[in-house]
Amino acid sequence: MDQHDKVAIFDGHNDAIQHLAEYRQGGRDFLTRSDDGHLDLPRAREGGLIGGLFAMFAKPERPPENDLTTSGTGYEVRLAEPIDPVYARGRIDAQLEALNRVVARAAGQIRWAASVDEIEAGRRDGAFVMVLHLEGAEAIGPDLNNLERLYAARLRSLGPVWSRPNIFGHGVPFAYPRSPDTGPGLTAAGLELVRACNRLGIMIDVSHLNERGFWDVAALSSAPLVATHACAHAVCPSTRNLTDRQLAAIRGSNGVVGFNLCVNDVRPDAHLDENTPLDTIVHHLCYLVDRLGEDHVALGSDFDGAVMPRPIKDASGLPQLIGALRVHGFGDATVRKFALENWLRVFRLTWR
Ligand code: ZN
Repeated sequence: MDQHDKVAIFDGHNDAIQHLAEYRQGGRDFLTRSDDGHLDLPRAREGGLIGGLFAMFAKPERPPENDLTTSGTGYEVRLAEPIDPVYARGRIDAQLEALNRVVARAAGQIRWAASVDEIEAGRRDGAFVMVLHLEGAEAIGPDLNNLERLYAARLRSLGPVWSRPNIFGHGVPFAYPRSPDTGPGLTAAGLELVRACNRLGIMIDVSHLNERGFWDVAALSSAPLVATHACAHAVCPSTRNLTDRQLAAIRGSNGVVGFNLCVNDVRPDAHLDENTPLDTIVHHLCYLVDRLGEDHVALGSDFDGAVMPRPIKDASGLPQLIGALRVHGFGDATVRKFALENWLRVFRLTWR
């Protein structure tokens, strides 16, 4: 790969925590290059990744059975059950501890970042930066005490729900083709959570939220609207993707959408098929740019949490995406916005 193609990239979403040796038995060493999964420090460096939002997420206590229904060209996954907040808190604390151990072991090659200054300093010093995100807020009780505690532990981004209900709101069940308008909006506790995040300067992520929940956040939040990992519903009508109206609201709020590389949300046919050409990816991203403008599109890969297109494969393949965007005609200044600058602008406007 031409050195010219190695643009500095910040990624809006990954699930690497789930696979860390520090978190689970048989997990991977983040500091050693692997061919499993999508993200570790060596592959991040190969791909030009300078850092990202690392999602803490409590998986269901038991894997659900027979929850996928397919019919004709569509699919539907039964909505996941709510999880026990005490269990969630235990998982999140274990993930936070695992990440802290990775950062400590990395001897300066990896740093925490909780401000744009810290991200920029990391980049300057050649250190990879981790920004802490919470995907689904079950670990936070109705009194929000744990929100303050996690904020003190550098939490700077939070999605009120994953694709399941909790005390704050309702996630979308995974389905295609289907509208994201799948249920009620935020609860009173959910509205309180949005206010608290605004007050603390924690970014609110609308990914996985149903459409009414999205509009509740849009009406209440004083910060730019952000989807850390999502695509366009007009191109791939899955529940996880954003309608044109939602995209317009995000643009109007000076927010950003992290383009999700998850093949079943990128492909118009929603097939779980890694043989997804770069053309399909660029075409989808161009639709987002048409709707949002070049200041409101960024990357939210979902590395280690989704099936990646084979031409990108993992974090080391990001220069393939950058190269394809250049071939498509996006200039250097625009590519830098998608890769890094749009995230930094939104962080600056959101974090205190
Ligand atoms: Zn997700």
